[in-house]
Amino acid sequence: HPAGFKALVLVTLSSGSLIAYSDSQSETDRVGLGPNQKEQKKKKVVVLGTGWAGTSFLKDIDISSYEVQVVSPRNYFAFTPLLPSVTCGTVEARSIVEPVRNIIKKRNGEIQFFEAECLKIDATNNQVLCRSNLDQNLGGNREFSLEYDYLVIAVGARVNTFNTPGVRENCYFLKEVEDAQKIRASVIDSFERAVLPGLSEEERKTHLHFVIVGGGPTGVEFAAELHDFVQEDLVTIYPMVKDLVRITLIQSGDHILNTYDERISSFAEQKFRRDGIDVRTGCRVLGVSEKSLSVKVKSHGEVYSIPHGLVVWSTGVGTRPVVSDFMEQVGQGDRRALATNEWLRVKGTENVYALGDCATIDQRKIMEDILSIFKAADQDNSGTLTVSEFQDVVDDILIRYPQVEVYLKSKHLKDVTDLLRDPEGNERESVDIEEFKSALCHVDSQAKSLPATAQVAAQQGAYLSRCFNRRQQCHELPEGPRRFTGVGQHRFRPFRYKHFGSFAPLGGEQAAAELPGDWVSMGHSTQWLWYSVYASKQVSWRTRVLVVFDWTRRFVFGRDSSRI
Ligand code: FAD
Repeated sequence: HPAGFKALVLVTLSSGSLIAYSDSQSETDRVGLGPNQKEQKKKKVVVLGTGWAGTSFLKDIDISSYEVQVVSPRNYFAFTPLLPSVTCGTVEARSIVEPVRNIIKKRNGEIQFFEAECLKIDATNNQVLCRSNLDQNLGGNREFSLEYDYLVIAVGARVNTFNTPGVRENCYFLKEVEDAQKIRASVIDSFERAVLPGLSEEERKTHLHFVIVGGGPTGVEFAAELHDFVQEDLVTIYPMVKDLVRITLIQSGDHILNTYDERISSFAEQKFRRDGIDVRTGCRVLGVSEKSLSVKVKSHGEVYSIPHGLVVWSTGVGTRPVVSDFMEQVGQGDRRALATNEWLRVKGTENVYALGDCATIDQRKIMEDILSIFKAADQDNSGTLTVSEFQDVVDDILIRYPQVEVYLKSKHLKDVTDLLRDPEGNERESVDIEEFKSALCHVDSQAKSLPATAQVAAQQGAYLSRCFNRRQQCHELPEGPRRFTGVGQHRFRPFRYKHFGSFAPLGGEQAAAELPGDWVSMGHSTQWLWYSVYASKQVSWRTRVLVVFDWTRRFVFGRDSSRI
């Protein structure tokens, strides 16, 4: 995300530990791990995708218990937060990718990798149909299918164009390494085109008008990178057109970076204005042609056209076809991402899990579950709980539903504790369940889904592999440290996301960061924090060294402007 913006990436591959719990329940717990625990034959796990979620799962999965097969059209892992830096040559593409086989070779070669795309998931027969494009030059594609006992879907998301006409044909995206390489070549092309003889000034200006659609972290970071590239490198190489370059950022919301703290958002807008980046908020793109964009101002409906030399479309993510098809099969056709329970198992399935950008933890069921827990605790059906019963129940809810905890802690803790007091402020002897229900409805309506970030995806991958690895142990030693009360007992603690913060690089060696505890930091020192965090989060020493080397090279020699 960011670029000048990097939406954060304190990707953590380590998350909270799992708690085995005491449980008299059968195998059909929510994690859905099957019954034949003692079976000698290893269970087959098929993993789709080698992005943040998939590789994080693969790093930790215990191959002595599972036969693991991985399918992905990419035989490498890409450190996506540095993609915007690749678009301008600040960092080279090869510096941010790690071959999947390097990652899995540490697992003694027992994980099999197939470079192919999953075309269809057949949940009825527990198999996936895949196609390798490697034979394309020989005139054919190779299709094959794999059977699974457990399937882990981690295929990420694709670009969302919102069906805007002309976007697929005329815009660049910034999702994959290849996209970043194409943008880099195209920026250079625009400059070379603009200096060709015989062009009018208007034509040169059009070639050098770079438009970014989407004021989220990725769009903002790209705009900032591009601005730095132009100002620090290209204007000295193409002095004849240096005054004709324009960068425009179009955002449909009222502010750029609107998911960040307001201070960051306004700092970014002010910095961009000082830098001469034209930020147009409250505007919607209606269509994109080869030469221009049609834009509507939302407030008064005016529609105008902007000529462009290059458009980068960065407005959020949509569902991959293979996931849409699977969602239809499991009765989730009305959703935009695969709904899972808090143990990451896909709703409507017994043995399929979904992680990362292609999945979302279903919030709808949470309220129902919470109320059932209350009702179960209200054994005499009086509609009230004693204060100590109430506190026990809230305790359990917070363990099961971290979303509620995060929300209560940040904003609504007061509402809930208020229920322990009457309007005069005196402590109550009992708590009305209906009153608590209405407080929680408020919480529920405000609880947000987890963001589609590398941070979430990596934590989910690590969490799920730990669940898989502990399966046998939990079966043999069912008495765990904590007993969950109420309806639906679970073998594992639900997934709990830990937010480590978000960065937003803004160019000119400045960045903004939003860290836990409402702590916001902006400016040059934050950029150094960004460098250290991103260097430390690299997946291997090889990429770490390459990335740091690229940054140093850029400081000393500037960026390379050759079109290769
Ligand atoms: P991905 O990482 O996208 O991986 C999906 C995998 O599935 C890939 O290997 C893909 O090849 C494979 N695949 C696709 N289709 C199929 C198929 N049919 N069959 C099999 N495999 C398939 N997040 C942050 O936290 N901080 C940041 O700073 C940040 N910056 C970003 C900058 C950019 C430019 C972008 C694009 C994203 C950024 N993100 C950032 C978001 C982050 O990259 C995603 O949230 C994260 O990649 C999601 O991980 P994932 O494993 O779900 O999907």
